[in-house]
Amino acid sequence: MSGFSTRALHAGAAPDPSTGSRAQPIHQTTSFVFKSAEHASNLFALQEFGDIYTRIGNPTVSALEARIADLEGGTAAVGVGSGHAAQMLVFHVLMEPGTNLVAAKQLYGGSINQLSHAFKKFGWDVRFADIDDPASFDAAVDDKTRAIFTESLANPGGLVTDIAAIAAIANKHNVPYIVDNTMATPYLCRPLEHGAHIIVESLTKFIGGHGNSIGGIIVDGGKFDWKGAGDKFPTMTSPQSYYNDMVFADAFGALPLGPDGAAVDIAFMIAARAFSLRDLGPALSPFNAFMLMTGCETLPLRMDKHCANAMAVAEWLQGHDKVAWVRYAGLPSDPHNALAQKYLPKGAGAVFTFGLKGGHEAGVSVVSNVKLFSHLANIGDTRSLIIHPSSTTHSQLSDEHKAAAGAAPDVVRLSVGIEDAEDIIADLDQAMAGI
Ligand SMILES: *Cc1c(COP(=O)(O)O)cnc(C)c1O
Repeated sequence: MSGFSTRALHAGAAPDPSTGSRAQPIHQTTSFVFKSAEHASNLFALQEFGDIYTRIGNPTVSALEARIADLEGGTAAVGVGSGHAAQMLVFHVLMEPGTNLVAAKQLYGGSINQLSHAFKKFGWDVRFADIDDPASFDAAVDDKTRAIFTESLANPGGLVTDIAAIAAIANKHNVPYIVDNTMATPYLCRPLEHGAHIIVESLTKFIGGHGNSIGGIIVDGGKFDWKGAGDKFPTMTSPQSYYNDMVFADAFGALPLGPDGAAVDIAFMIAARAFSLRDLGPALSPFNAFMLMTGCETLPLRMDKHCANAMAVAEWLQGHDKVAWVRYAGLPSDPHNALAQKYLPKGAGAVFTFGLKGGHEAGVSVVSNVKLFSHLANIGDTRSLIIHPSSTTHSQLSDEHKAAAGAAPDVVRLSVGIEDAEDIIADLDQAMAGI
């Protein structure tokens, strides 16, 4: 297998066989002509793979899926309209009304909202556990639990999850472990290699990298034993009437798609596409897939620069007299530094938080006075971004959830861009002089 940078450019994107186009063509079409009536009925019955309608699949989106599946080391992927849509589809396959999932309390604020409010309407319950105490996940699992969910590198605090420890708990209870790898990207962390079963990712952030397109993806590692979990996952293991009583785990659990025809399990990805994406509908546009794929080509270069700049900024902040504390897992003094060295050996990412001695007012003053930094609710742009989570992304959470998620009133979050480090530091310096 070639190296990561080579695959970030070439995986999933051979020159177009019909036109010779070197860049990935944008297949801006809603539908695809059938070769014959038999071809059409085979596609609908999942007897043959191919594109029917862009809500379910599209060649430009497929190219992106192949690339990210390769970079994450998974068997297959499904690209969708946003990171949140990826989460919704994964849980739609796994959950039934009355079941629960055990999630880290250290999550992106939008994910806490999704799990706590939107999912409740589906009858899916959520229990929160603490990544700093893996045993709390074990304690929260019961016979109705259908999934464990954490981020690899948690937003907004830049905290590192002990993926192998939580994977062991998931295996003990026969439930899949889903990891949101948005903040780390497959360049910095590969959760499937540490025992995670399924990856979800917002492509909106570092993978697209340029702050111009929303997208998400699901990647399956192909290792979870659906039938070994008894009757926990009926979508995977019971006959589906709308597909001639096909059982996904049987029909797609061992297809000869690997090197030399080795068996590969893509059953979860087929269920996510042919059932959940088909019926819930959060499709990724071909144009956005093209933009996200273009961004992905420079992912390794950008992540190296993001990490080096973040380290320089974190070190500088640590020495600043108006700063109360800095949490960046890349700093040798950080409580998560040992986990960062294990799971993110190339760097601890570009998003981290620090606390200002002046509390809430000082935070508001800094975000109001920056000039190079953009004050907005995103991460992973090439440009440096800043936000005060307590008054924005995490404002709808209770004070308890805010503190648990690392978003107390004094907290400022940075997503350090790829400008020159001296300019990033100079901007923070002048903004903090105004406190
Ligand atoms: C942004 C983000 C999401 C949601 O992704 P969207 O593309 O905005 O839907 C999920 N998880 C994390 C860690 C994020 O940063």
